[in-house]
Amino acid sequence: AEETVELRPLTVALIKPDAVADGKADDILAKLDDCGIDVVGKIETTLSREDAQTFYSQHQGTDFFLQLIDYMTSGPIIALALAAKKKGTDVVAQWRTLIGPKDVTIAKEEAPESLRAQFGSKDEEFKNALHGSDTSEHAARELAFFFPDFHKKRQATQPKTTRV
Ligand code: ADP
Ligand code: MG
Repeated sequence: AEETVELRPLTVALIKPDAVADGKADDILAKLDDCGIDVVGKIETTLSREDAQTFYSQHQGTDFFLQLIDYMTSGPIIALALAAKKKGTDVVAQWRTLIGPKDVTIAKEEAPESLRAQFGSKDEEFKNALHGSDTSEHAARELAFFFPDFHKKRQATQPKTTRV
């Protein structure tokens, strides 16, 4: 059988170490279908400090960078490649809306239905259970990082451009 390459726009989600350790991954995954999201790739991995620093390079130099790296390397994570079920949907924006604000306290106040409000840590407001790519450029970079083969296949199927 011919292998099919997923050509819908994708975004990358991470189920962060706190949520995996607390056994929330299956409950999170079970909700995605109802949210209009298809999971087209799924891997479990543990980030090295170097991986985490590369992944979050935009936050290098901030006062929370070390805390963020400690958090993201504290245990296994689950990386997901996500597509919107509904054609024409901006899945990057859709997923960011579904997860809600980064601060769990604010998520609970302003977006109680959001996934971070439902699955974030009760004690630490930045242990927010889920990541979502913030732009399509970051989504492409994060897809290449977690799903390199997948990413290559998609690239190979894109129309070739010729330099003139
Ligand atoms: P988002 O994950 O919504 O894109 P950011 O890119 O601003 O948010 O931050 C990345 C992650 O770093 C957040 O999800 C959160 O886990 C953590 N974080 C952000 N700001 C802080 C902070 N002030 N203190 C501790 N951790 C933080
Ligand atoms: Mg971000």
